[in-house]
Amino acid sequence: MKILLTGGTGYIGSHTAIELIKEGHEVEILDNLFNSKITVLDRIQEISGVKPKFYEVDMLDKEALDKVFAEGNYDIVFHFAGLKAVGESVEKPIRYYENNLGSTINMLDCMKKYSVNKLIFSSSATVYGEQPVAELTEDMQTGVGITNPYGRTKYMIEEIIKDVVISNPNFEATILRYFNPVGAHPSGLIGEDPNDIPNNLMPIIMKVSTGELPCLSIYGNDYDTPDGTGIRDYIHIVDLAKGHVASMQKMKPGVNIYNLGTGKGTSVLEMVEAFEKASGKKLNTKIAPRRAGDLAEVYANPTKAEKELGWKTELTITDAMKDTINYLNHLAK
Ligand code: NAD
Ligand code: UDP
Repeated sequence: MKILLTGGTGYIGSHTAIELIKEGHEVEILDNLFNSKITVLDRIQEISGVKPKFYEVDMLDKEALDKVFAEGNYDIVFHFAGLKAVGESVEKPIRYYENNLGSTINMLDCMKKYSVNKLIFSSSATVYGEQPVAELTEDMQTGVGITNPYGRTKYMIEEIIKDVVISNPNFEATILRYFNPVGAHPSGLIGEDPNDIPNNLMPIIMKVSTGELPCLSIYGNDYDTPDGTGIRDYIHIVDLAKGHVASMQKMKPGVNIYNLGTGKGTSVLEMVEAFEKASGKKLNTKIAPRRAGDLAEVYANPTKAEKELGWKTELTITDAMKDTINYLNHLAK
């Protein structure tokens, strides 16, 4: 297959590129490098032996995007590109709606023009909003109780994709709802390396461990969970990348939605302990008030992906921590 990865120099896109190249696919990458670095392409080459063709394009620039599609003759698009900082999206909602919705609409228009009828979209567990239970299944209602513009862009894009499929019976769309991706490639050559100050747990733990940030604030220890801290479903990035390959192999008409998660919840304190154990270093932490909009406990029911895609996670939190530390050691060199 000839595949376009939008946002492919980013964290999830770059790991997926490696798994796709391993399977013999031809991968091209488009990114505006807002939140990733061009050197990722060399790292992909070091790991996989292949340097993907790269287009430095902002997807809001429709003319430039059109040229990529005109040249590309793609079989399928994986749409990773987007802004993803939840806190920033509350401060700059217009920027998030413009970038995430605008880039998707431009892409869908180009896909129509060039008859590219297969799409895999990076959605998020955030589309479930607030639910009465912690274990989330794909058939639950979405869109209610989402607490930030970032999450709403994911929900809106899912709805746009559903409408596109209604208008074009040949279109095959797979929506992947990621839980919390963590870890790095076991080579230590690529991982999560945000250009901005992060607000997700794992990149903050990384920056506290290197001394770039002074302290990890644990947002709340009074939740109704065994140790009082928030529980999430952390999925190793390599498992997540392999979930994309499995999804592509099982594309079918219509819109098909899958949770990509482990099915197991881990608390903030358990994450801190796992990192400390793997690194042999104590992390500087403090208990802080709950973060607005946070839920106590969220984890995937991953049964649908296992049944229909033949995919399930294989790696553990310990693997993720080991690989993260290996990646940090490479970054420090
Ligand atoms: P990332 O920031 O590392 O990668 C996204 C890439 O998109 C970046 O390289 C950025 O430069 C690029 N980009 C953004 N806007 C663009 C535009 N207008 N034109 C061209 N390129 C653009 O993020 P990631 O963690 O790899 O996430 C990939 C996708 O998965 C995103 O859509 C994100 O919302 C979604 N997602 C991520 C997580 C997570 O925790 N990492 C969880 C759920 C969903
Ligand atoms: N968290 C925390 N301190 C931080 C960042 C996150 O305690 O500096 C907690 C957060 O409250 C949640 C978990 O870590 O319980 C995962 O947060 P993240 O933002 O990574 O993912 P999300 O909440 O979007 O699932």
